[in-house]
Amino acid sequence: MKILDGKAAAKEIEAGLKNLISKAKRPPGLAFVIVGKNPASHAYVRMKKKKSLELGIVSKDIELADSVSEALLLKQIALLNEDPSIDGILVQLPLPSHIHVEKVIASIDPSKDVDGFHPINMGKLLVGEESGFFPCTPYGILKLLQHYHISPSGKHVVIVGRSNIVGKPLAALLMQKKPHLNATVTIAHSGTQHLLDVTWSADILIAAMGCPHFIQSSMVRPGAVVIDVGLSRVQDQLIGDVDFKNVAPLAAAITPVPGGVGPMTIAMLMSNTVLSYSKRMV
Ligand code: NAP
Repeated sequence: MKILDGKAAAKEIEAGLKNLISKAKRPPGLAFVIVGKNPASHAYVRMKKKKSLELGIVSKDIELADSVSEALLLKQIALLNEDPSIDGILVQLPLPSHIHVEKVIASIDPSKDVDGFHPINMGKLLVGEESGFFPCTPYGILKLLQHYHISPSGKHVVIVGRSNIVGKPLAALLMQKKPHLNATVTIAHSGTQHLLDVTWSADILIAAMGCPHFIQSSMVRPGAVVIDVGLSRVQDQLIGDVDFKNVAPLAAAITPVPGGVGPMTIAMLMSNTVLSYSKRMV
């Protein structure tokens, strides 16, 4: 069984980015918009800012109160859209319930949407057009598989979870008719019947549910590759969706939590920011 070490793969990508940034005419700029005091959101933003700083990306913080109006939030995004020093805009989710998430995402200039959540970038991904940004977690999973020479081509990939940020874009990416993608993809969700039969049929099983240790050894075919996207905080510990201890011995390869998909997500955010910078500078 091989451990798919996301930290190591991310380090390699980041070294390449650092080199590119050291030769840049100006530092790439990444804006973080965060609303409210959600400790998990602040922790995620801190990690992303730390990585930006390490690589030489300049970050800008827009911190707004929980009670901020949607109009004021949209105004802040409009200012960032116009700011020539900003190449990427990240609005940390979730947002308070009085704000329409879709409206906020749609207000980001698609050419600065380094999270890849804007409908234009999602649409480009769906039709196989490469001029947009791929969402960071799906893109990070693809890069991790590539790092370990695991090709999804012709394989049955089962993704458990159909969110707009992980499951759906990951399916769209992996099923593309390109030699390095070309997977047969099944998406499962809470309405799936006979889930065990579905997960058992996977050559590559990707769990993106947010249900700690839900994927048990009985759900995984021996020799499958297992990717654990899940990240739940339980009694101060980060727990994945896969029961690693019991699943790892029968898997061909598996990601740990933490240290698997998480670092790759951050690396691809940095990569998208540098890509945006490069496009802006030509
Ligand atoms: P989400 O929006 O809550 O979606 C969860 C998905 O899992 C839904 O499609 C849901 O089905 C499905 N699901 C939940 N319980 C299920 C069950 N018992 N059986 C089958 N399907 C079930 O979550 P998300 O934003 O995609 O995130 C998923 C997990 O990944 C979370 O733990 C999150 O923290 C983590 N995450 C990690 C990273 C990273 O970088 N490591 C990045 C993003 C997310 P329904 O659609 O039917 O409700």
